Amino acid sequence: MSLVVAKFGGTSMGSSESIQQVSKIIQEKLKNDFDNVVTVASATSGTTDQLIELGKLALEKGNWSILLMEIRQKHEEICKELGLKIDLSSFWQEMNNLVSGISLIGELSLSARDRLMTFGERISNTILAEYLNSQNLQAEMIDAYEIVRTDNNFGEGRVNFEATKELINSRIGNILNSEKIPVVTGFVAQAENGQYITLGRGGSDYTGAILASCLKADELQIWTDVDGILNIDPRLVPEAKVLDQLSFNEASELAYFGAKVLHPKTIKPAVAENIPVRILNTFNIDAEGSVITNEEVESIKSVTYKKGISIVNICSAELLEAHGFLAKIFEVFGRHNVVVDVVSTSEVSVSLTVDENVPEIAFEELREFANVDFIEGMAIVCLVGEGIKGNSRVLGELFNAIEDHDVSMVSQGASKRNITFLVEEDEVKDIVKKVYGRFFQEIVREHEMVYCGGKSEKINLEKI
Ligand code: ASP
Ligand code: MG
Repeated sequence: MSLVVAKFGGTSMGSSESIQQVSKIIQEKLKNDFDNVVTVASATSGTTDQLIELGKLALEKGNWSILLMEIRQKHEEICKELGLKIDLSSFWQEMNNLVSGISLIGELSLSARDRLMTFGERISNTILAEYLNSQNLQAEMIDAYEIVRTDNNFGEGRVNFEATKELINSRIGNILNSEKIPVVTGFVAQAENGQYITLGRGGSDYTGAILASCLKADELQIWTDVDGILNIDPRLVPEAKVLDQLSFNEASELAYFGAKVLHPKTIKPAVAENIPVRILNTFNIDAEGSVITNEEVESIKSVTYKKGISIVNICSAELLEAHGFLAKIFEVFGRHNVVVDVVSTSEVSVSLTVDENVPEIAFEELREFANVDFIEGMAIVCLVGEGIKGNSRVLGELFNAIEDHDVSMVSQGASKRNITFLVEEDEVKDIVKKVYGRFFQEIVREHEMVYCGGKSEKINLEKI
């Protein structure tokens, strides 16, 4: 029996039209392609942010009731447009009590904030299940509170896979046996202490991956509002192409260096079980999408970039003899939660890149044992593809393409699938376009390689 877990994001749940579209996808595609369908849905778009705002307003004793009313009206409107008569009053009552409590006590604990956020998914999935039933798709809404267990790390619960797996298999198994579609709330779970908890922002993808891995699904589908993962930011190059396949590691690299589609760490449970993860567009059902698998196909996939980067140069004569110098530097950054992206070292100095907002205190601490200087306004450019590291032809083409620009900190990192370098932020768009133009336009043309459809939208390393 084949099984798909299909996760629908906020925009897919955002309006009555999009919910109708979700139903159509289940009816016309998923039910045809698979024996069993499990859905996971996010809150309607914007709702989680509104719920966070609601908590804040209550805490500041602002006029939260207007915002609560807005959230309520938005959902009631969707129900009305879908022709559904659902009684959501217990949700509004519960939210009202919770928010009044926050306002009264003047305290918003992480657990109260989490509980408040869960309403988004609980309401949206209630609506989805009702709508599917009205369309003769037998569905049963399941609050993931009942099947996903975590520790008490409120704000970002850490999943107890053993307990969760057992619950998922029995509860979801039962629903599937009765030939219904389980409609599961994303993002939501139960903490060890029995309270509602969330899996962190964007956590519905994670819920999808947890379900897929526990149920040993044949595929995890992430339905969103783009055609897949693109080989470049479409704001720079409107004719950006969708990648048909990429490896999990390539997807991680892309997410890390600026691409937006999804956080690979959230799909890890699925990939660990070798379950393909397909990104699809709710608003363009026929597009093939991008599939992320463990297969590592050697080719150039994408060029990406990340702005708002600073270079920190750390220099010390001490470095010459002392060992443990790098450890000392990283200890300081680690303690201040500073993420370091790229590192390069020489005998007397270390350069590394960090996001813009490093606390001044971290620099002060570094200055106690080294000279530190700081260059702001930089960007990282990253060429991604399995097998490109150490490929001198790729490097040659790359630097020919951007010979008019200054670059620094060229690095092929520890991974075999990226080449990164630093440029000035003002020039980054120009440079990224040139790199893209060379690999994805000129070389493609010179070798008459064809994009999508011709199976060769990845740049074959042999042809360079
Ligand atoms: N609704 C949650 C959020 O906005 C979870 C999700 O959409 O994945 O973060
Ligand atoms: Mg999302």
